[in-house]
Amino acid sequence: SSVSIAIIGAGISGLSAAQALQEAGLPVHLFDKSRGSGGRMASKRTEAGRLDLGAAYFTARDRRFAAAVRDWQARGWASEWRPSLYELRQGQLGPSQDEQERYVGTPSMSAITRGLLGETPVTFGCRITEIFRGTRHWTLQDADGQSYGPFSQVVVAIPATQACNLLTAAPVLAGKAANVAMEPTWSVALGFSTPLETGMDGCFVRNGALDWFSRDRSKPGRDNPLDTWVMHATSQWSREHLDASKETVIEHLHGAFAELLDCPLPEPAFSIAHRWLYARPAQPHQWGSLADVDMGIHACGDWCLSGRVEGAWLSGREAARRIIEHLDK
Ligand code: FAD
Ligand code: NAD
Repeated sequence: SSVSIAIIGAGISGLSAAQALQEAGLPVHLFDKSRGSGGRMASKRTEAGRLDLGAAYFTARDRRFAAAVRDWQARGWASEWRPSLYELRQGQLGPSQDEQERYVGTPSMSAITRGLLGETPVTFGCRITEIFRGTRHWTLQDADGQSYGPFSQVVVAIPATQACNLLTAAPVLAGKAANVAMEPTWSVALGFSTPLETGMDGCFVRNGALDWFSRDRSKPGRDNPLDTWVMHATSQWSREHLDASKETVIEHLHGAFAELLDCPLPEPAFSIAHRWLYARPAQPHQWGSLADVDMGIHACGDWCLSGRVEGAWLSGREAARRIIEHLDK
């Protein structure tokens, strides 16, 4: 039929589902509460250029995802990132060699989801608050009371905690989503006018306040004038400082960064903090996606699999696969 499939969430899982459904000839319409696509994989436009305050990079272990990444590379949306990695071990920062291939969007993480979105119909700035099923079709309602529909199916591609509220039509799915705890992450970027004199591009800290930090300009395709470093706080620290002011968080992570560095740290010329309330699922799952295929309601996202970009992409594909398979019956 020509009735579209509604996809709520234009992050990588929603866009992966959209791409697979469109490739099968099915029309889709995306909804996102933000002004743009990408979700946790988006980059923020700042005075210091576009910065990846969410996902820092991604890996590709699944064959299908690896093929998608090669396609993104061919389109110029992504590149391999070969950072000089360090790690904190027994209180000491030291180089940490490995063989892992890592990828980033170019010139920023957003390039991937922007590319995937392409000309796909989308409504931005629209927070869906309810999903109703009529006799045959689905209707959505947003926070302003506006209705959208009819849709043949719905795919809920948002973090578990938020998905739970939209899945009331399918209590089994809602129950599963309700049991997935999502952990917060505070993210801070500091920009320096003079480049820091260190050989580090990225560092696994996993201790105290800091989980990880990396140097923006070590990623391919970046041309920001400042030497900008993005740091992510650990889940525990983020939880304990959930309601701290951005100033406090910047000060604290700046302090932790300065303490670890092997070089003098000048005053930053730029700083920004962003709080991700639902950054990562507390545990991975093996669900692929969740579905009531007969009713035509699906849930996907990183929380259905590995809690990473790859997991989110695979989960979106799985939701699309199940829709297509059901229609073919
Ligand atoms: P999201 O990206 O959250 O997309 C959901 C979308 O739905 C959002 O755009 C949101 O605006 C929208 N939305 C939500 N509710 C509604 C609603 N009611 N109505 C309409 N729209 C709605 N992964 C890695 O692989 N490597 C990393 O290094 C890495 N680092 C990370 C660092 C941080 C700080 C964070 C936060 C995440 C990181 N991740 C990393 C995880 C990765 O970003 C996510 O797994 C992935 O982007 C999730 O995609 P998604 O489509 O499932 O969800
Ligand atoms: P990956 O293979 O690079 O890293 C996986 C984990 O292995 C790392 O977290 C780190 O603990 C360890 N590791 C890898 N290489 C290392 C090295 N050279 N030295 C020391 N330790 C090393 O990437 P992945 O499996 O794709 O994981 C994605 C990354 O994204 C992880 O670091 C994860 O913590 C992070 N992430 C963060 C959030 C968040 O909300 N902050 C959410 C999802 C994922």
